[in-house]
Formats: sequence, structure tokens, C-alpha cells
Amino acid sequence: MPVVPRPVPHVAGDPGRLTDRQQALVALAAELGRSRFAPRAAGHDRDASFPVENLRELRDSGLLALCVPVERGGQGGGYAELMLVAAELGRHCGATALSFNMHACATLWLGEVADQLDLSERERADQAARQALHQERVVRHGKLYAQPFSEGGAASVGKAPWGTLARRVEGGYVVTGRKVFATLAGVADHYAVLCTLDTPGASPRDTLFLAVPADAPGVSVTGPWDPLGMRATVSRRLVLPDVCVRDSARLLPEGRYHEAAQRHPHLYGTLAAPYMGIAQAAYDFTVQYLRGEVPGMPPVTRRMYPTKQLAVAQMCIQLEQARAMFLDTALHARPDPDATALQRLQAAHYTVMESAAAICSLALRTCGGASMMRSLPLERYFRDARCGSVMLPWTAELCLDQLGRSALYDPDETDEPVDPVDDPRAA
Ligand SMILES: Cc1cc2nc3c(=O)[nH]c(=O)nc-3n(C[C@H](O)[C@H](O)[C@H](O)COP(=O)(O)OP(=O)(O)OC[C@H]3O[C@@H](n4cnc5c(N)ncnc54)[C@H](O)[C@@H]3O)c2cc1C
Repeated sequence: MPVVPRPVPHVAGDPGRLTDRQQALVALAAELGRSRFAPRAAGHDRDASFPVENLRELRDSGLLALCVPVERGGQGGGYAELMLVAAELGRHCGATALSFNMHACATLWLGEVADQLDLSERERADQAARQALHQERVVRHGKLYAQPFSEGGAASVGKAPWGTLARRVEGGYVVTGRKVFATLAGVADHYAVLCTLDTPGASPRDTLFLAVPADAPGVSVTGPWDPLGMRATVSRRLVLPDVCVRDSARLLPEGRYHEAAQRHPHLYGTLAAPYMGIAQAAYDFTVQYLRGEVPGMPPVTRRMYPTKQLAVAQMCIQLEQARAMFLDTALHARPDPDATALQRLQAAHYTVMESAAAICSLALRTCGGASMMRSLPLERYFRDARCGSVMLPWTAELCLDQLGRSALYDPDETDEPVDPVDDPRAA
């Protein structure tokens, strides 16, 4: 009997769980992804080049302004919409989804997160002016914001102040430092960087969030970029040697980023969204492949082997587990999570990142040798998916570390070091 191609599932599983607006935004991302981004993905992956055409189309579609309020001309989306759109984009081009995530996340800190902070009247007025400026740049001028936080030190995990320093001067700051893994390096218009206000005894509380214009004198992008996966994010090194920026570069009031990050840890969870999409794509591919429906491949079916059926069942279970946790976070994450809510966020993050890699690995083993060809997207999904769980601050290792500790200890609790001689079990 001939195999009839089936439509691919919705990224939320059941679209009925989403609002009409969310469904429309996902549909827009799906259309762009399917028709435009997926066909270009292999070329940009091969060349490790940034898909600037995708960026132009994201801008034209209005999705670059996803997290800008409607009254400012944006799409009025928030955390949930960012997660859903980035996940859908991830099905078609993981690197575009991750790059989109960086930009959209910067606009979320500036907008939704800032709106929920307890600011003084003066800070609120100041922030309103900054929001108007930066949101207008995104909406009217299609400007793109990268979010290079990482420096390769303990600051990325909140254990030390950022090494990049901002010295206050008349009308602005002088920023000096360097950032590693700057996704969108060389194509962004602004780099939303975290730096430490240069004061004696500065701590992570003195973190500043500044949008450094890419064309400011001194800004440069350096170093090679030839990684395993997510190659089209072109996440090279950003160097900021005494770069002057104006007061208007502030994306949050001075000293407020630390509080924002403590109160909105779910923003770290946005990094999982592209990988949710990659996991779905690997599963969809495997089903198509085993049913002999992959375009350009001979219509040979392999679905009749019980071993394949079992493997697909395993993938399906892992995918649904990841999706359930992903959607719970995407749709219900709130500021100020208590200890158990934070555990759920980290458990969801870990599950999506590790499941994406596991599903892709199982997909390759199940589809077999012919599926590993670079002419097919599965080997790219596999390489891209492997990058997820190394992303700070919630790497897979650090999720396990923090989950284990928070499950067993209250925040201030410690143990006396155990001397094995005093341990009754040693007797
Ligand atoms: C494709 C890609 C794109 C990226 N894009 C961006 C971006 O746009 N913006 C951005 O800010 N970053 C970005 N990153 C960087 C990413 O978030 C991490 O910062 C980076 O991968 C960490 O590099 P590393 O493993 O060499 O770090 P290292 O600092 O060497 O850490 C190695 C591992 O050690 C563990 N570790 C680190 N510090 C501690 C600690 N204090 N205690 C216990 N364990 C610790 C962690 O598990 C970590 O994975 C990107 C990374 C990738 C792969």
C-alpha cells in the first residue's frame, strides 16, 4: 500500500493550548522557516556564514519586534511568545533561531522585565525614555541587538563581577573589555553587553546592561569561527577597547540588572527554545525517513522493522517529555520563583537540552548510514543539538549541580566537613 505523506505536528503538540495570537505568530515563524530558512540552512552551516537574508525577512515579517509593545508598533509578545517562536524557528534553522533568541531576549529585558521592576519615579521616567529609543530603533529602523554576555570566567555563573568595565564619564560611559561567543558578531547593530560599573569593591550588584553601537569607534570582532555546530550564529569574539557610549545606551537602570536576573531566572531558559525545535525536527525527519517520504530520497520504507518502531517510540516519549516541560515553562514561568519553581525551571531546561542531543543521536542510529550525508539535514541537527547543554549559565552540569544542592540544602545551609574517622559507618 502506498505511504501517504502526513502533515508535521505543531511545535506545541496541541495548538489549542495556545492563544489565537500565539498560534498566528507560530504560523508566521513556520511559514518563514519552511519556505525560506530551511532551504538556506545547509549552505550557511557549511560556510559558517550568517544568514543575513533570514534576518531581513524576520525584520520584514515584524518578528524582530516580537517583544516590543503593540503601542510602540511591535507585536506585543512576551516570554511565552519568544519561546514558541524561537522553538518553531529552530525546526528549520537552529542557528537562525538561536540568533533570533539573542535579539528578542535583549528586547525582553528592556521591556517586559523592566516593567516588572520596582523602580523609583526617577528611574521609571528614565527607563521609559530608554525603552522608547531602543524599541523605536527595532520597530522603525529594524535594528538588531546581539546579547554577548559571556567572557569565559566565573561572571557567567554569577560568581564574580563581569570583567568588562564601564567607567562613568560626562554623558555616558567608557566600556573596556571583551566578550566571547558573541552570536551575531559582525551583523548586529548593537551589542547588549553586561559590564561592571568601575567603582572600588564592585560586585555583581554593580552590573550595567549597555547597548554598545556596533559602529562605535574601537569596536571590533576578532578570532576564528569554525565550530562543531550552530555554525551560522558566527559567534566570534567582541573586543571593546575604551569604547565611548552615551547614557542612552542603558537598557536597564544602573544597578538593576542584578535584581532583574535574580527575579527573572526564566530568561536563561530562553536558550532552550531553539533546541526544542531541533528535537522536533529530528523526530519529524526520522518519521519521514522511515516512511520513505524524504524529498529527493528513493521512496524506500523502513518502518516495518520492529527495531525501528521501538526507536521511534523512544524518541516520541523523550520528545513529549521535553515538550511538556518546555510548555510548562514557556506558558507559566513567573518572576520571583520560589525554590521549587526554580528547580522546575532548571529541570525543564536540562531536559530540553539533553533530550535534543539524545533524540538527534537516536535519530542517526535509527535512520542509519545514508541519513548521515550532508545532503540531508539530520547530521546538522545532531551537531547543532550538541551545543545546547554547554550554554551558560545553565549548562547541563550546572543544572545538575544547582538542582542537587537546592533539593538537599536551604540557601544558607552548609555541613561541617565529614571526617571519615568520625563517620559511624566507617567503624
Ligand atoms: C553556538 C554558541 C553560541 C553562543 N552565543 C552566545 C551569546 O550570544 N552570548 C553569550 O553570552 N554567550 C554565548 N555563548 C556562550 C555560552 O553561553 C557559554 O558561555 C560558553 O559556551 C561557555 O564556554 P566554555 O564551555 O568554554 O566555558 P567555561 O567557562 O570554560 O566552562 C566550562 C564548563 O564548566 C562549568 N563551569 C563554568 N563555570 C563554573 C563554575 N563557576 N562552577 C562550576 N562549574 C562551572 C560549566 O558547566 C561550563 O559548561 C554561545 C555558545 C555557543 C556554543
